[in-house]
Amino acid sequence: MSFAQLLDDLPLRKSATVRRFESLLAPKTAADFELLAQQARAVTRRYFGRTMRLFAPLYLSNECINNCRYCGFSRDNPILRVTLDVEQVVLEARHLAGQGFRQVLLVAGEHPKFVGRGYLADCVRALAPEFPSISIEVAPMETAEYAEIVNAGAEGLVVYQETYNRATYAEMHTSGPKRDFNWRLDAPERGYAAGFRRIGVGALFGLSPWQDEAVALAAHVEYLLRRCWQAQITVSVPRLRPAAGEFQPQFSISDAELAQLICALRVTFPQIGIVLSTRERASLRDVLISLGVTSMSAGSHTEPGGYTHQGADDLHLTVGGRAIAAETRTREGATATAQFEISDERTVAEVTDSLRRRGFEPVWKDWDQALAKS
Ligand code: SF4
Repeated sequence: MSFAQLLDDLPLRKSATVRRFESLLAPKTAADFELLAQQARAVTRRYFGRTMRLFAPLYLSNECINNCRYCGFSRDNPILRVTLDVEQVVLEARHLAGQGFRQVLLVAGEHPKFVGRGYLADCVRALAPEFPSISIEVAPMETAEYAEIVNAGAEGLVVYQETYNRATYAEMHTSGPKRDFNWRLDAPERGYAAGFRRIGVGALFGLSPWQDEAVALAAHVEYLLRRCWQAQITVSVPRLRPAAGEFQPQFSISDAELAQLICALRVTFPQIGIVLSTRERASLRDVLISLGVTSMSAGSHTEPGGYTHQGADDLHLTVGGRAIAAETRTREGATATAQFEISDERTVAEVTDSLRRRGFEPVWKDWDQALAKS
């Protein structure tokens, strides 16, 4: 049975694992929450020790043909856009390598004219000698297309469903190929078939009631753990942040609820990676790391060229698929528009210092392509 069928049947047929997970999301007294937190800490320690995998997002392009109501890169937003060429991508990556990173997440909007799969494969190939772990977060592809990216040297695929509620999905994705819910939903399995060894899924919290999203996400994780058993499954629980377009979320998940969700994921699925981005503020991230998070970004920029101002002299508006010169492009210091505002603005060194003070060992590299060949 495909996950799409399973998802549609979910209200009527939940597995014992998903029912147990759901029970962990119910409101809790402070004492009950503390018990859950202790359990989550113990499980994390047993499976991952006191390590924290560090990665950086590297935005390649903010061109996009989709309109997603919550995203700054939406096609109709009149933002400053750019697509870095491969040399510029390498310069951005070298800056990250200088800070210690060996694990990068390449991010791009969906635009076949600017971000073709040949371009993505070229970027991966150029970075592979210096980055043992390269993941991509781009538009869903066919299996054969994913295989080209894997062959170029990528090992991780990230595809967030955004929302598992079909009606909300249709409401949020107003135009463009992203409107195809099932095509996106099946992307992790296509990626696995193509050879990705790390598969990341997630929901964007704030689009519908958080408990419903969390239950569907848990069902997806359970399904992928069975279907893609040779890959490491990672989960992300991003909350909406302010962005161009000024989308106002209808739903919220509080800090305490987010902590409870992370504990519930950890206790239910001890072996999965849990990813926490700089969307969350520093003080909250310092608390959440002990509850089950295993991977975090640091010092992030969410605009192409954000680390070293690459592409600053090619900023433009994109109208009807054509680049139009923007007045602001010549203004000194102008950068491409970011996808969303980050919240944890600490430097990489500040984040690693904070991790060490809390007894965590930052991990810059946990994988080498040579392992795949041995
Ligand atoms: S969420 Fe992705 S597909 Fe949607 S507008 Fe943003 S970059 Fe484009």
